Amino acid sequence: MADYIYTMELRLTPNQQKGVTLVQDIARAAGMNVYLTGGAVRDIISGFAIRDLDFTVQGNPLKLQKELERTGAVVSAADEDLKVIYVTLPGAVRAEVSSARIERYEKTGKPPVVTPATIIEDLRRRDFTVNAMALSLNPGSRGLLMDPFNGAADIEAKLLRVLHNYAFVEDPSRLIRALRFSARFHWPLEERTQARYESAKENNYIEYITNRAIGYEIEQLAYEDDPLNIVRVLEKENWLKVLSPHWTTAKVDTTGLSQLMKTRQQMNEFGYSPDPAPAVLHFLTARLNDKEVSDIRKLIPRRDLAEAWRDLEDNAKSLAKRLTGKEAATPSRTWKLLSSARQEMVLFLAVTAKQQSVAQKIKNFFTKWRQVQQKVPLAEMTELYITPQLPAYPKIADEVFMLLLDGKLRSRTEILKFLKPLAPPPPPPPPPPKRGRGAKAAAAEAPAQAAQAGAKKKGKGAIAPPAPPAPLKRAEPTKVPQKPAPKAGPAPAPARVAKKASPKKLSPKSAKSKKASKKH
Ligand code: ATP
Repeated sequence: MADYIYTMELRLTPNQQKGVTLVQDIARAAGMNVYLTGGAVRDIISGFAIRDLDFTVQGNPLKLQKELERTGAVVSAADEDLKVIYVTLPGAVRAEVSSARIERYEKTGKPPVVTPATIIEDLRRRDFTVNAMALSLNPGSRGLLMDPFNGAADIEAKLLRVLHNYAFVEDPSRLIRALRFSARFHWPLEERTQARYESAKENNYIEYITNRAIGYEIEQLAYEDDPLNIVRVLEKENWLKVLSPHWTTAKVDTTGLSQLMKTRQQMNEFGYSPDPAPAVLHFLTARLNDKEVSDIRKLIPRRDLAEAWRDLEDNAKSLAKRLTGKEAATPSRTWKLLSSARQEMVLFLAVTAKQQSVAQKIKNFFTKWRQVQQKVPLAEMTELYITPQLPAYPKIADEVFMLLLDGKLRSRTEILKFLKPLAPPPPPPPPPPKRGRGAKAAAAEAPAQAAQAGAKKKGKGAIAPPAPPAPLKRAEPTKVPQKPAPKAGPAPAPARVAKKASPKKLSPKSAKSKKASKKH
């Protein structure tokens, strides 16, 4: 039994992994067999980025809706006829849960007759061999790959192959899908598939495409990594006007779109992952008229996407307004505002902001202010025992960062003045060393004590040495003048403590008696 679970876990993001476990457990609890299917399996095997998760259950996925919502998932649409739910799982993971089904096409251009089926039957209704695989998520067979059309071999050969001769006749949206996948992966159509494609094109089967399929394909464009390229390819093949009659690349705001993709990339590098889909749709349709845009919007299956796209400009305006008001009067306030704003809004505004001050603030947020994190005075914090072990550490580090942003901690004096009241009490000094006979006895006892201490290791009395605070993102020591750092070894004992812990100076008398005892 080929086990793809390891590959799957390796290839999915942590949030996608959680999503798989969530859907698997909910389906299992409802007594339904569940499989990962479609593009997710293709991408796991081929190594391309996994954009979304497609699940197929043997049963009605609409019955899982309540349970999914209870875990924080958002069900943005449900197709009662095909029994599909469109979900955003926690962590912004896009997913689709559909019912395993047979689709029987009785008349060209008419929706298929749908009946419940097994997973293998379901795979037969799919578009291309590379999309007709399933990975079992069920106990007993978890990790088993079902690949009745040898899609894995076509992935290896980098070919798109339809499952049968009527693929494009049954559902002409597959013509658009063929071109989209071919442009995305740079995989050609297999020879016979190409012939079927040409013939379907010649016979103009595309005019039988359903509105549901048009909406679905437009939505898919929004999630492409290079949507402009896909739109160009579709236009060349005359498929773009099938999606909307007056849609051409001239109607696309190409500058805005490429700026959006660049900014998105930068945000990803900073650890943000904004959903670019609403903004992609905005730029792709920038020069279509209102009616055309609203017609397209009505066809988008995911209602939350359609609404986010519709409200994009208004929401950007209100964020811009807040950025010019009191709420963003200082760098620290602006930082807080932008950190808590919806990432997709920050992304969109970064590209579209008209006011110089707004654009500058967003630019600072991603560049200049980020570098201030490197000035967090870690040395002074360590010196004062303000280390990550301290429950209040994140709060203090954050406050320090805010003050640095506002230019309020410029010197070591200012830093210490702020930090000292927040410092925890220093650890108690070690007991003074024993002298004379007592010392000898203590020395003799030492190994036994050491052994005991080792056993107690985590006991009450153990005093851990102060660990240096974990750096914030790319934190480096402050530029405030500091003592040179030791070359290696444990962190030096802070000056304050060293003073307290050092043994008292011997009085001349006791020094004498010590000398005398040495002579003996
Ligand atoms: P991606 O999401 O990466 O664009 P995908 O293959 O997951 O690619 P989806 O549109 O999400 O594409 O569809 C999920 C799966 O549903 C496909 O992999 C395919 O198996 C099936 N599917 C989607 N549309 C069709 C169609 N028109 N005809 C047959 N099967 C389809």
